[in-house]
Amino acid sequence: MPTNPVLTTDLPFTLPDFAAAAPGDYRAAIEAGMAEQVAGLARLRDDDSPATVAGVLGAWEDAEATLRRALNAFFSVHASDGSPELDAIDEEMSPRLAGHEDAILLDRALFQRLLDLRDRIDAGETEADEQDRYALDELIRSFRRAGVELDDASKDRLRELNRRLAELSTRFEQLNRDARNAGGFDVTEAELAGLTDQERASLAVEGGHRIDLVNTTQQPLAAKLADAGVRRRLFEASTTRALGGPHDTRPVVVETARLRAERAVLLGYENHAALVADAGCAKTTDAILEMLVPLAQAALAKAREEAAELRARYADLEPGAEFTAADWSYVEAIVRKERFDFDEAELGDYLQVDKVLDAVYAAAGELYGITFTAVDGVTGHAPDTQAYEVRDADGTVLGLFVMDFWARPTKQGGAWMNNIVDQSLHDGALPVVTNNCNYTRSTTTISWDGVLTMFHEFGHALHGLLAHSRYASMSGTNTPRDFVEFPSQVNEHWAWTPGRVLPAEWIERLKAANRFGQGYATAETELASLLDLAWHTTPLDELPSSADEVEDFERAALERWGLVDELVPPRYRSQYFAHIWGGGYAASYYGYAWAKVMDADAVAWFGEQTGTLREAGDHFRRTLLAPGGSVDPMETYRRFRGRDPRLEPLLERLGLTLES
Ligand SMILES: [Zn+2]
Repeated sequence: MPTNPVLTTDLPFTLPDFAAAAPGDYRAAIEAGMAEQVAGLARLRDDDSPATVAGVLGAWEDAEATLRRALNAFFSVHASDGSPELDAIDEEMSPRLAGHEDAILLDRALFQRLLDLRDRIDAGETEADEQDRYALDELIRSFRRAGVELDDASKDRLRELNRRLAELSTRFEQLNRDARNAGGFDVTEAELAGLTDQERASLAVEGGHRIDLVNTTQQPLAAKLADAGVRRRLFEASTTRALGGPHDTRPVVVETARLRAERAVLLGYENHAALVADAGCAKTTDAILEMLVPLAQAALAKAREEAAELRARYADLEPGAEFTAADWSYVEAIVRKERFDFDEAELGDYLQVDKVLDAVYAAAGELYGITFTAVDGVTGHAPDTQAYEVRDADGTVLGLFVMDFWARPTKQGGAWMNNIVDQSLHDGALPVVTNNCNYTRSTTTISWDGVLTMFHEFGHALHGLLAHSRYASMSGTNTPRDFVEFPSQVNEHWAWTPGRVLPAEWIERLKAANRFGQGYATAETELASLLDLAWHTTPLDELPSSADEVEDFERAALERWGLVDELVPPRYRSQYFAHIWGGGYAASYYGYAWAKVMDADAVAWFGEQTGTLREAGDHFRRTLLAPGGSVDPMETYRRFRGRDPRLEPLLERLGLTLES
């Protein structure tokens, strides 16, 4: 039988043969992987010998291995070097993969096999270590969240709820997009005062100019529009979109919140947020609120100080005019320029691409003793990639890093990390990890934001490369969503070391500029997080039952925590909060802040160490990076830090103080 090039393991580091793979090979590989998983899990389920770790967890990983390999290869190529053929495969396979996963998680006999293993472990009849135990517990949890234990009538209701919720999510996205488009308005040339010619040109439409809305409450254009009247119209259009009219999203919001609440109770959880927290590392909504509420309160207090300052400046600019939320970003931009303005071109010498990349690799060397050596003759997931062999301090080969630096028309925007091969002690696989950026060939220097992004994505890469776990499904960045951004954020910290990329005086200036405006920025984000949680922790009988209750619900939710301020509205209001009604972030928006708290607390730990950077790096690597998601992430955090994460270091970084 000819081997599918996506599935061949003959190349170095068991890389897929990307050069030989045609789009159809990816489809065939994914289909082969699904079939293999079904067959493997059926054998595991029907095995009537006593359950053991090897017979259940080992067999589980083996059954999944081909599908994992096929999907890793497919997602890596699709994102970096896509094509209409690959788009079509993605569209075709997404629902099939979702159905495939559902069928597994609703298989009662398969679930019973997991419970049998747990019983035997508990009774001391078979051996399991911490990683086995955690992998098993997480599997059991995911079956429970999917509804495996429900009776037939409840399963029917669950299917009905899932079907309706999927419909509502699509409906929300359509309405929200239409409401955003309908919120745009025509403006005269004179109303565009403050914009450059290029910015004006980008707003040109047949017969004049038009301002369109973006997703967030505050509109980036407002920072530049000198005309207070047009700023107010823009703010009004943004915050009243989707309230009533043909694109009213509120009926969808209300029905979605109510059905999610019903589903959570059906599945045995207090509410939807509790169901979601169970899949994360936070585990309980109390833990999330204990972090989020004080953070939001401290941020709002700081935003109120900022407001006083901006109001005073506005009084000079527009004597007698009232300072409103619509003016915030405009005045903030003026004050920021007066106080912190500098020309980033002055940094050009320091921000040369090659120097920045060297600094990224050098930081990893200083922390972990690892080295990166370019290897030729290895074909990555896209044209023009550069592969590096990664070695440990003692020369042991750790894995392969593939840098895909350049923009191409077939590439997604932004920057990201992907796994091509997940590290696994179970099958002996070394990790193959990519970073992907979008720089044009003529790029010689990058912005400071670009430097931070580079360190960030490389932090994800290190999480994958330094993984040392038994099971591929739990290794490296295969962690809960509220944890995965934490190690990458910690790696950003190393860009700020004086002398690494920039001299100390520039670092100080940039830090001061960064802190400016953090009250507002943090408050608007965490207000949105709390709105998300309010919608998903409120019991069904207390949720709004009609569209006209939505605004009152939102206000009452924020009022409960003392967080209502006309000058500081949430980053998204309920009726256009696409992350939670359309995207997959319902009850998860807190995850960004959760990871930031751990990041700042971990960076504070590094600052407290008196030994060498290598010693500190090795401790972080051993306790936190190496286990990846194979041990309870909060437990790995405690092993790293010696205690639970604390909020104070993040507050200090942002220039905030706790409300007393
Ligand atoms: Zn990230």
